[in-house]
Amino acid sequence: MDASHVESDLVNVLFTEEQIQAKLAEMARKIEADYEGEDLLVVGVLKGAVMVMADLSRALNRHVEMDWMAVSSYGSGTKSSGVVRIMKDLDADISGRNVLIVDEIIDTGLTLSWLVTNLTSRRPKSVEIATLLRKPDALAMPVDVKYVGWDIPNEFVVGYGLDYQEKYRNLRDIGTLAPHVYS
Ligand code: 5GP
Ligand code: MG
Ligand code: MG
Repeated sequence: MDASHVESDLVNVLFTEEQIQAKLAEMARKIEADYEGEDLLVVGVLKGAVMVMADLSRALNRHVEMDWMAVSSYGSGTKSSGVVRIMKDLDADISGRNVLIVDEIIDTGLTLSWLVTNLTSRRPKSVEIATLLRKPDALAMPVDVKYVGWDIPNEFVVGYGLDYQEKYRNLRDIGTLAPHVYS
């Protein structure tokens, strides 16, 4: 790992850049197989999914269109409430299309569950979810996640798109923060 001053705020690296790229390549092979001969629109959920979108889409050996949504989840700081507001909607009309929502992490799953319902009402051909990380709470949600990189313990992680107070998104690795960062 890079011993930059930012990266030294990580107390524990869970996944290195190399491990992340290998996992995304694995996911890309499954996606290619499942959508063979089909049109595919990948939808990134801003801002956290930026890195996963960039790397997963480039790992796909096929044409894809890329679009973005920004949603904000009402509720107290750390847990989402499931009440969601669209800050930026899709540019694309998704009716009749295969939509793959790309996210970096599913915690409670409330945001994605809402998003799937919202997008489904627009009459797409299909809606599926790909996420790099999933936490245990999400397993209780009735939201089907077709592609999961890793299931992780219930810990707060940063890096590779994941922020703590809008920082650390640009780390190449994913890890947990050292206690001194919080104080
Ligand atoms: P939920 O699945 O609970 O509706 O919300 C998921 C969102 O909560 C993620 O997109 C992310 O913004 C945030 N989140 C959940 N767990 C973590 C975490 O461990 N680290 C960071 N940085 N954000 C998280
Ligand atoms: Mg996200
Ligand atoms: Mg955040």
